[in-house]
Amino acid sequence: MELNGKVIVITGGGRGLGRAMALEFAGKGAQLALVDLNQADLDETLGLVKAAGSDGRTYLCNVAQEAEVETLFEKVYNDFGALNGVVNNAGITRDGLFIKVKDGEIVSKMSMDQWNLVMDVNLTGTFLCAREAAVQMIKNKQEGCIVNISSISRSGNMGQTNYTATKAGVEAMAVTWAKELARYGIRAASIAPGYIGTEMVMAMKEEAREKIAAGIPSKRLGKPEEIARTAAFIFENDYISGRCFEVDGGLRI
Ligand code: NAD
Repeated sequence: MELNGKVIVITGGGRGLGRAMALEFAGKGAQLALVDLNQADLDETLGLVKAAGSDGRTYLCNVAQEAEVETLFEKVYNDFGALNGVVNNAGITRDGLFIKVKDGEIVSKMSMDQWNLVMDVNLTGTFLCAREAAVQMIKNKQEGCIVNISSISRSGNMGQTNYTATKAGVEAMAVTWAKELARYGIRAASIAPGYIGTEMVMAMKEEAREKIAAGIPSKRLGKPEEIARTAAFIFENDYISGRCFEVDGGLRI
């Protein structure tokens, strides 16, 4: 798919990887529909998109809410008169041990709140946005591509029972959609980033970040632009579908 002139939705587009992808796509002439919970962040990203020579619109929407997502995708199609892609990037963590034991006693367990919040945003949000994007693409006969942002944690990681389940889920859903939607000219794929220096990771203690970097074969955190370029590569190569791209500096956890 030629990105120039195409309309791409990026969830979690206010900051972090979402912003980096918006700027990469803007540089290639794509029109961006930026979706997030925070208007100030969205405005900042849109300003940068415009500075990069492209244009777009911002949408406040909680990707975990079915009615909001249905309205969002109808509105995006009506506003732009086209819809060619969605990057399901909005995601959260609520880390904690599955079972925490101290001196032989169970002191805590992962709560239903921790579980449900992460499921709602990462898994249900991706399901809903891809579904509604596909509805608009099929109905309006659009060439389309869906990219899910998974994670290196999708294979299992300490303290992330909830997050790992969602990130394995979004990878698997992309495989399913690649099979189901190819007949409508829609591709689907995923990216599993390693540790990338966005707000989410920079919020960790410096000591923890240094320890992580030391354990990565490339000896550094990834850059948001490195994930953004991978996303653009998927959009631009029409023979990619159903696969997950690992961009992690050689780390396997
Ligand atoms: P981030 O926290 O910097 O940005 C996430 C954005 O999503 C925020 O702007 C937030 O407001 C938005 N968001 C959260 N919940 C939402 C909701 N319900 N509806 C709409 N928007 C919502 O995170 P990031 O580091 O840029 O990560 C982006 C994605 O990449 C996430 O899915 C994350 O799991 C994944 N990822 C990140 C890393 C990393 O190292 N940063 C590694 C692997 C995977």
